[in-house]
Amino acid sequence: MKLKSGFISIVGKTNVGKSTLLNRLLGEKIAIISEKPQTTRNRILGIKNTPSAQMIFLDTPGIHKARSKLNIFMIKEATKTYGEVEIILFMIEAKAPLGNRDKFIIETLKRVKIPVILVINKIDLIKKDYLLPLMDELSKLYDFEKIIPISALSGEGVDQLVEDIDDLLPFGPKYFPEEMITDLPERFIVAEIIREKVFHLTSQEVPYSVAVVIEDFKEKEDTDIIFIRAVIHVEKASQKGILIGKKGNMLKKVGKLSRKDIEDLLGSRVYLDLWVKVEKDWSKDTKALRRLGYR
Ligand code: GDP
Ligand code: MG
Repeated sequence: MKLKSGFISIVGKTNVGKSTLLNRLLGEKIAIISEKPQTTRNRILGIKNTPSAQMIFLDTPGIHKARSKLNIFMIKEATKTYGEVEIILFMIEAKAPLGNRDKFIIETLKRVKIPVILVINKIDLIKKDYLLPLMDELSKLYDFEKIIPISALSGEGVDQLVEDIDDLLPFGPKYFPEEMITDLPERFIVAEIIREKVFHLTSQEVPYSVAVVIEDFKEKEDTDIIFIRAVIHVEKASQKGILIGKKGNMLKKVGKLSRKDIEDLLGSRVYLDLWVKVEKDWSKDTKALRRLGYR
């Protein structure tokens, strides 16, 4: 039997559940998830192998209005994938009607010639009889190849989605070895896990002011412990104060929760050495962005 393969971009505004779907498709947590918008900054690639196909998913940052340099970077990342993929999954959520950002994304889709599947996520949050009229209405907006309602959280509808993707993929090579589920280095995922904890534990502008850099990652000789030194970069001294917390309590919490997830990921004990450093206004500075890994 010939293998099908190809790249599939997941686009949609922030918070609709793109990263949750990616993790669900792969059965592993590689993308960071948060109830706060704009969590995913870099493009994340996840590989799913089925008996008949290799599906390579790109979880892109949400598309939104460009304001800061970081936002411009994120929009570029999201639409850049259009030229590199065989299928686009455009995700919206069932409970919120289409907003301006969705309409903006639909506009950007009018330029593409590849199939677009509309994925309506979070159907666990709505009444089922609301779904058919909604699908009918949405079908008038764009010539979607398919419209698939799912719950990325519960998994409902996801098998159907995988089947439909399989139907649309062309025959192609195996791009990645079977055991590989992402092209991201472990270091990157570790940094993302730490960033996720900061997202969960802090509020207001702090989560958006954080970049995590792994400065050291090594196995300690003659032990089964992996030593990781990570630096959390913030933009202001006040943010550093918040992240360290009273008697260092906040940083301890971030460290404890991160270590647990990193140990699960690596299947090993971990010593996590966590630091906070002020890098003034890094998100507005192109050079600093590059240094912190947002190329
Ligand atoms: P992204 O910004 O599009 O990547 O969205 P995330 O995957 O980070 O998810 C945003 C929020 O929506 C998180 O709090 C998720 O737990 C939640 N979420 C994602 N999928 C579902 C779903 O199917 N049902 C419900 N109820 N919540 C979901
Ligand atoms: Mg995301």
